[in-house]
Amino acid sequence: MQPDYNKPFILHTDALSYGMGAILSQQGESQQNTTKPKFHPVAYYLSMFSPTERNYDIYERELLAVLKSLIHWRAHLGWTKYPIQLLTDHANLTYWKQPHKVNRRVARWYGELQDYWLEIHHIPRKTHPADMLSHLPNADKGTEDNQEVTVLPPTAFVNTTITLPNLETSICMSQNSHQSMMKKWMKTIPILPPSIRSPWWMFNNKIVIPPTIYLRRQLLRLFHDAPTAGHPGRDETQRKVQERYWWPGMNTWISEYITGCASCQQNKNLTHPTKIPLFRIPTQEDATPFSQVAFDLIMQLPESNGHDAVLTIVDHGCSQVALFIPCKTTISGTHLAQLYLEHVYVWFRAPKKVISDRDPHFTSHFAKALAK
Ligand SMILES: [Zn+2]
Repeated sequence: MQPDYNKPFILHTDALSYGMGAILSQQGESQQNTTKPKFHPVAYYLSMFSPTERNYDIYERELLAVLKSLIHWRAHLGWTKYPIQLLTDHANLTYWKQPHKVNRRVARWYGELQDYWLEIHHIPRKTHPADMLSHLPNADKGTEDNQEVTVLPPTAFVNTTITLPNLETSICMSQNSHQSMMKKWMKTIPILPPSIRSPWWMFNNKIVIPPTIYLRRQLLRLFHDAPTAGHPGRDETQRKVQERYWWPGMNTWISEYITGCASCQQNKNLTHPTKIPLFRIPTQEDATPFSQVAFDLIMQLPESNGHDAVLTIVDHGCSQVALFIPCKTTISGTHLAQLYLEHVYVWFRAPKKVISDRDPHFTSHFAKALAK
């Protein structure tokens, strides 16, 4: 909605330990059958606190949220016809009503606040819409209840979940820059534009991810690559991402992402064996000696009397007798046939079956040569 400078601005702010959210809205036409005014959001603002700012106490953070929002919307709020209706948690801001011995930081903020015409209103906590902006997913809801607490999140919380609210801010901005695309999608898919309930375009209560590869990669980094995610499989990753996000064709995208994940490829649990299983070579009951033979070459041995390989010929079918014949690594099928002729053929004639792990070419050379 375009701001109307002839109407007062309403500013909702909320601060948590790691970041803040704000909604700038204006009063619209009263809803039919009720005198309750309707608020139209003009803009949303999500911001992360710096590590230093996170250490501020809740009163300071609440005040900082107000100041950051005012500065962010200075173009709208720097000069106003009416006082800016600041709706925020009474308890935290009224703290500043009392005289305090303020530090230099707060004194400077107060100086900056003087640039704006503010009217502070108390609104009950549960109807505070900016709450939702700050209560981003994966936030440590258990330890952070926004009362007079400044419990610092554990290190892991800072490292991993902090990035999510950051990312969701980016998503919000990216959706904004892809407005036309969102509207196009809306024609075929029941996605909902941002509202007072959500600063994002939503589909089925899920945040719509615009066609920005960067955002999709960031999400996958968080839900798949991060040490806390631990490279879950395709189904698990899809399930996690689907819990809160949606984009057209997301499952295929995620599946392809995981296929391309180097770590996953390296640590893949092989579902098919790499070794061919051993199997018994059947033998005939009435096999004669050397009717079924197995060849093997033990090559690249230290040279001895001009030989550097050993040809083993095993009678596979009958006696299991093995012959070890010195030869050369470079032995050809013809030469092998020659050796066979000299050592085996003279006694047992040609074999009916030859087993060898040499290439078939070699074996056929051997068979042809032997036939001569
Ligand atoms: Zn992976």
